[in-house]
Amino acid sequence: MRFEKKYHMSVKKPKILLIYTGGTIGMIENPDSKALEPFDFNHLIDNVPKIKMLDFEIDNFQFDVPIDSADMNPSHWGQMAKVIEDNYEKYDGFVILHGTDTMAYTASALSFMLNNLTKPVIITGSQLPIGEVRTDGEENLITALQVAAAKDPSDGGPMVREVAILFQDSLLRGNRSTKFSADNFDAFQSGNYPELAHIGLDITYNKEALLRPTPGKEFKVEYIMDTNVAYLDLFPGIQENVVKSTFNIPDLKGVVIKTFGVGNGPSCPWLFDCIRDAVAKGLLIVNISQCSNGMVSPMKYSAGVGLANAGTISGHDLTSEAAITKMMYLFGMGATAQLAGKYMEKNLHGELTE
Ligand code: ASP
Repeated sequence: MRFEKKYHMSVKKPKILLIYTGGTIGMIENPDSKALEPFDFNHLIDNVPKIKMLDFEIDNFQFDVPIDSADMNPSHWGQMAKVIEDNYEKYDGFVILHGTDTMAYTASALSFMLNNLTKPVIITGSQLPIGEVRTDGEENLITALQVAAAKDPSDGGPMVREVAILFQDSLLRGNRSTKFSADNFDAFQSGNYPELAHIGLDITYNKEALLRPTPGKEFKVEYIMDTNVAYLDLFPGIQENVVKSTFNIPDLKGVVIKTFGVGNGPSCPWLFDCIRDAVAKGLLIVNISQCSNGMVSPMKYSAGVGLANAGTISGHDLTSEAAITKMMYLFGMGATAQLAGKYMEKNLHGELTE
């Protein structure tokens, strides 16, 4: 009996759902303006005849109007999550084609929205449209499909059980990724977490780095993202009126404050007063570093102690994309500033090193 089951598993074709949202990968040049514009999915697939060489069953779903990812917003995240939820049992894995500009935001948001995910959700795109001779889109798409179909030989389950970004030579955890190059094929980095897999002649998985969610928990999507959040980026010379007006935005619930180095800011009494007042009013203020590598440890310098004492919460080594989407998610769940602050410091889906 056991042998039959194994044999059956090994001959079953992987079933992948390809979700096309837009982005450069599927764009073509507008003949008049010469600007790149999103195009239809069939054009994209026609340009990747190699897909047929993969012995996979691939179905697709495309956004009614494919978009430049600069237009991405939480309602689109909801659409992607809904497609995944509706088809969760039918497919072995999901590949999302997405523009690179806001890919790390989508990857971070989905990592929080898709709770108890045990299947691969691989997001990819390209720097050059798939119709161009030197495109990186073909390779990224084919590799993303292979990663979404890969099995872990130790238990026969999916190799990847989380939201990840596949780009060029690396598979990266979605909520640890950031777009760092507007020009290079190698466009994403994960400054505080190792690659989940290295893409070379082989796809070499870093088994220790992959998430292994507790089995048996029901897959559950949380759709509400509360966008009453903002960033405040510190710089030498920042004025009190800039800080005050950010903290006084009506209905604002949380601010991600981007600080210097390990979480430092100017030692100005007015800054501490502004933070103290905002926190007393019920605002959540989370401190993350402007550096893409390293962790906030505000007690290291007195320049950071002031911010911590005024009431900021440490965002540890969260990326800027993970910090803002995690806030949207926690407030969307109805958390108070106090509760959201507690969870901002906890690792929920591999996004933070506690
Ligand atoms: N503007 C494009 C987008 O994000 C860039 C890209 O896909 O690389 O949709």
